[in-house]
Amino acid sequence: MANQEKDKKLLSVVVPVFNEKEVLDAFYKRIKNVGESLNSMNFEVLFVDDGSKDGSYQKLMDYAVSDENVKVIKFSRNFGHQVAITAGIDNAKGDAVVVIDADLQDPPEVITEFIEKWKEGYDVVYGVRERREGEGRLKLFTASLFYRVLKKLTHVEIPVDVGDFRLMSKQSVKVFKELREKDRFVRGLVSWLGFKQTGVYYHRDKRYAGETKYPLRKMIRFAIDGITSFSGFPLKLATWFGAITTIFAFAFMIIVITGKFMGYTIQGWASVMLSVLFLGGVQLICLGIVGEYIARIFEQIKQRPLYIIEEIIEEIKMGKNS
Ligand code: UDP
Ligand code: MG
Repeated sequence: MANQEKDKKLLSVVVPVFNEKEVLDAFYKRIKNVGESLNSMNFEVLFVDDGSKDGSYQKLMDYAVSDENVKVIKFSRNFGHQVAITAGIDNAKGDAVVVIDADLQDPPEVITEFIEKWKEGYDVVYGVRERREGEGRLKLFTASLFYRVLKKLTHVEIPVDVGDFRLMSKQSVKVFKELREKDRFVRGLVSWLGFKQTGVYYHRDKRYAGETKYPLRKMIRFAIDGITSFSGFPLKLATWFGAITTIFAFAFMIIVITGKFMGYTIQGWASVMLSVLFLGGVQLICLGIVGEYIARIFEQIKQRPLYIIEEIIEEIKMGKNS
């Protein structure tokens, strides 16, 4: 890399991109500014094109052609945000690796604060969302609830209100690469690694342009991934439900038997219907929970690769197009 100085450390910035044509120019400009302001470090940007269909890839190619510090990984199709982040981290060569969204919700300028902390000796520096702009009340409420429920359910210390905007040291990246689970909840995996971690508060802006790529359906899926990856508690719910209904059943049995001996029988249509429906519902829910875990075991056991790269564009100027 021509304009990279040998003795300086390298910062890799990983950016997942899925149909972000409207924001890419603005993002590239801002991240470039941040890169140029880092006097003490060399800088590379690694875009992961997660199967965009809106021409994002052509834009990324343009940056890569004119800027040798830009690298582009193109997936063969859409594999999802968490997998795109993983591919970026897998391919980053930096002494420190930052993950940032392309939509400018995470201000690139905060990276300089991350680097300060990293220089103090932290392995993971994550952004804590102090305020969030431009998100609906429902999203804010459900997100806040989700992080707190997850915290209760797991022994891993996953900080609340933290997304994937973070810096990781080379050492933490090295071990992160060994975690190949399929249904990925990256922020949890990074917490699970341990090492010295700290947070930096930041103000999460609204999306610069375009639409969120996380509709409700994907968000629910993501939340379930988070919980199932880090807690077996839902599996134990059946035991609790079972214990509680058994206690009720015993109490009810006494009433029924006494009634029988006292010589009165109750008509009982309503109570029978209610208990059948209630128990049917509870059983199906418990079965569904077991199904969620089995589906994940099934995905995992197939051992397919996490993602498929169609093309990697790097150092075009030097003709090394691998
Ligand atoms: N993204 C991706 N693949 C997907 C969905 C999203 O690479 O399948 C990228 C997207 O381009 C953005 C980041 O992940 O850079 C976060 O997505 P988004 O901003 O839509 O999520 P939100 O901030 O609304 O939760
Ligand atoms: Mg966003």
